[in-house]
Amino acid sequence: MRDAWGGGRQSRGIEVNGHRRFLHPHVKTMHRGKRVVLLTAAAALAHAGAMKFNLALTAACTVLLFNQTGLAAVSAPPFYGDPPDEHHPWGVHDGNRPQPKVVTPGTFSSEAQPGKPPSDAVVLFNGTDLSNWRLDKKEGPAKWLVRDGVMQVVPKAGTIRTREEFADCQLHIEWAEPKDIQGSSQGRGNSGLFLMGMCEIQVLDSYNNVTYADGHAAALYGVNPPIANALRPPGEFQVYDIVFRRPVYKQGQVVDPGYVTVFVNGVLAQDHTPLEGTGGHKKRSKPVPFPDKGPLVLQDHGNPVRFRNIWYRPLPLRASEGGTDGCLTAEATMAKRKQIAANIRQDADRLTDPANPAPQLLRLLESLAYDRDEATVEKVTRMTSAYVQGVKQLPADQVGAKKDEVKQVKSALDYLEKAKALPPGFGPQAEIESLVKAQHWDKKS
Ligand code: MG
Repeated sequence: MRDAWGGGRQSRGIEVNGHRRFLHPHVKTMHRGKRVVLLTAAAALAHAGAMKFNLALTAACTVLLFNQTGLAAVSAPPFYGDPPDEHHPWGVHDGNRPQPKVVTPGTFSSEAQPGKPPSDAVVLFNGTDLSNWRLDKKEGPAKWLVRDGVMQVVPKAGTIRTREEFADCQLHIEWAEPKDIQGSSQGRGNSGLFLMGMCEIQVLDSYNNVTYADGHAAALYGVNPPIANALRPPGEFQVYDIVFRRPVYKQGQVVDPGYVTVFVNGVLAQDHTPLEGTGGHKKRSKPVPFPDKGPLVLQDHGNPVRFRNIWYRPLPLRASEGGTDGCLTAEATMAKRKQIAANIRQDADRLTDPANPAPQLLRLLESLAYDRDEATVEKVTRMTSAYVQGVKQLPADQVGAKKDEVKQVKSALDYLEKAKALPPGFGPQAEIESLVKAQHWDKKS
């Protein structure tokens, strides 16, 4: 298992609630009640020091927990995967990278019952009223029919929009055509949803209904037909799950055209389709900047289409608009790396302990992987030299106890040298290397 912790290296497994977990050799385990607690290298050393000197383990230690299922987030030790580079502020498998937020998933809908939205969803229509909606083109209440948990277009009551405005999102919306089939082509069960009020994802009774391809249900209207027509018969609820990204412009130049992905009843209909502007009727659409946010608009096209279970989840910023995940510009990467390094150095300050300097030293060394800050280089130079001297001065029968710790500091320095995060010929690296050799700790035992 190359991707398990310690894969390809010396690894050991532990049982956590029936699941075998593999740990990197830099990670120590402790048992606290029913929980297995993992300590990163710096934290484990701090703990060892605390035990030795009978000091309390401070909250500054990085403590990672398995929860009762044994499947909780597990971070990685430092000096593990490839380091940050000029376009990625974090290293590969970087333990300092923030954990994803936890979302409780919702439930799927049945024909009779709408599903439950995920825990972080913004609900736009929950089946009870139209308080989140208003007329689109002028001030005034939305006068569509609300009955049995569903809102229904009242022909000529007007197109409606959300009061709230938003942009990039995951959008969920369910709709149903009248069972009583009337009209054909674009005249059969026409409605639609306009993302940010700008571009229409078509709503139409496309079940056994021929029309122009870029006007079918789930078309990006006037721009791109759906990949497939996966509609259920009229009368049954259809489910749209949409991922929308607005166009991003900088100084009048497009840096991201904006995209839409649409699933219809779980079947992919738009696959990251570039927006090419707003789309539209009969006219060739051209790319244009969008506002920062806009409403969700539902069309009154004169047909009594029903809607239910409408919610969205805002999406994080893309790298092109200031987000920190993905491939960043060199400038944005360096700014983020400096911020990460500053946070780690702040954390290192809390580990200050002259009687047990290794945890702070390791944490400071870690910060150099992000930012080769000269003041930190000077500090770790002094600290590493003092640390090696301290180990050398220990009585012969106590030196052996330092083996793992010294080797950790050495491997951190080796990692940083490889990552070009140390100045060439970094002195203390030679000192620690000679200590390891003198003690024969470089030999495999
Ligand atoms: Mg329409």
